[in-house]
Amino acid sequence: MQHFDLAVIGSGSGNSLIDERFADWNVALIERDPVFGGTCLNRGCIPTKMFVLPADYAVSPTEAERLGVDLRYEGSDWAAIRDRIFGRIDAISAGGLDWRERSENVTVFHGEASFVDNRTLRIGDEEISADRIVIATGSRPRRLDVPGLEEVSDLVFTSDDIMRIDQRPKRLVIVGGGYIAAEFAHIFSGLGTEVTLINRSDVLLRSYDRDISDQFQRLIAGRVKLRLNQKLSSVEKDGKGLIVVTTDRNGIEYEYFADAMLVAVGRDRNSEALNLEAAGVDVRGDGQIRVDAQQRTSVDGIWAMGDVSSDYLLKHVANAEARTVQHNLLYPDSPVETDHRYVPHAVFSNPQIAAVGATEQQLRQWGTPYVTATQRYADVAYGWAMEDEGHFVKLLADPGSWALLGAHIIGPQASTLIQPLIQAMSFGQKVPDIARGQYWIHPALAEVVENALLGLMAAHQPAEIAK
Ligand code: NDP
Repeated sequence: MQHFDLAVIGSGSGNSLIDERFADWNVALIERDPVFGGTCLNRGCIPTKMFVLPADYAVSPTEAERLGVDLRYEGSDWAAIRDRIFGRIDAISAGGLDWRERSENVTVFHGEASFVDNRTLRIGDEEISADRIVIATGSRPRRLDVPGLEEVSDLVFTSDDIMRIDQRPKRLVIVGGGYIAAEFAHIFSGLGTEVTLINRSDVLLRSYDRDISDQFQRLIAGRVKLRLNQKLSSVEKDGKGLIVVTTDRNGIEYEYFADAMLVAVGRDRNSEALNLEAAGVDVRGDGQIRVDAQQRTSVDGIWAMGDVSSDYLLKHVANAEARTVQHNLLYPDSPVETDHRYVPHAVFSNPQIAAVGATEQQLRQWGTPYVTATQRYADVAYGWAMEDEGHFVKLLADPGSWALLGAHIIGPQASTLIQPLIQAMSFGQKVPDIARGQYWIHPALAEVVENALLGLMAAHQPAEIAK
């Protein structure tokens, strides 16, 4: 049996932790997926954003019209966009695997790893042992179990495969109302598909501040047919297409005709195939591996990171956790912890959304005193240039310490505009300092953030401090 200093299961963020500092380590890297590099690279963050941008261009005539510019969207070549995107992605993935396979100290195993005991892994017919094991197996789209789904599986997609389809469907039903539904609703409707978005509750993007999710709902409803409080009950073939049947809370059935369906109802963690009981690794009922702040599992010498163990299914968090594991493997006598205090997140839809910290609903629930201010894009100079409608920055702060408690942005460049606020929260900068301790370029869009901060200060009236 081959023995290794370190075995890493999963070639996404797990692969990135094996840097030159491990040159003296004998490392096994195990991947069951025929594609190398994990979800973010191959079927997640990166290709989706590469589709979002063409969709942004496709909807730009509506925005240009407000400014008196007559643009026309004449259509798009789906296959060409897809091939451009995956021509790039697939090459990076293949290059990554090739480079890894040529690394002198790393042996790549292609197959599914499962624990035999806390130091031994089985991969197919082979067994290997390792002094330390890192589990970085990620997550996968959750499947729905409804009558008919199996029979129409050629027309039912998840985020894993919808970006690779041959033809953009004329009519697409999206089931779900979270991140993935929001992003693909923009991609497909932007490029010209008639999209019906069906969600089981009446809230889209549930984890966001309610002002943000309500506004997203209002704006996206102008682009797609929004059907809330409906559950998928069955699917059947209709000629070359689909009939998607849903049921509302009163038991009334609805039928939707579509050429394809995207199921985006959350993600499941990839932990069950690992046979974690054999190693004694503690796992929650939903498959999330339990780790402490140092990314240690319940078993000494076994770490976990990324989607399989994190509270956050976000690549930037997986990267941070990989850095923690990396450090703790290399310097076990001075371990570090992952900083999960201010984890930002963004939805790359149209409108775009970004947030960090608490929502107003959470602060109320926790009984935390706060002041809040909302600044519309439309009321700053660059927003005038944009003739903006409907986008805003909402901030929440502690009226005693002036610490920012939450920042929420809906509108163009939200994911970029929020960065100084993430920085302020991470480094403990206070609202008056962020607002007045630096120049804000005039008349840049960032003034919407500056004015929101000034708005917070203006809002600091005792009577307005929420209990
Ligand atoms: P989300 O967790 O964001 O949303 C799940 C959605 O599916 C909700 O609207 C939920 O409805 C609905 N839902 C859940 N279970 C069912 C069910 N059984 N039947 C019908 N509807 C159901 O999931 P996504 O799949 O969109 O994304 C998964 C995760 O991936 C995200 O949470 C995020 O962490 C990550 N991600 C991040 C992105 C980014 O950073 N930009 C982009 C894409 C994904 P309800 O709320 O009504 O219960």
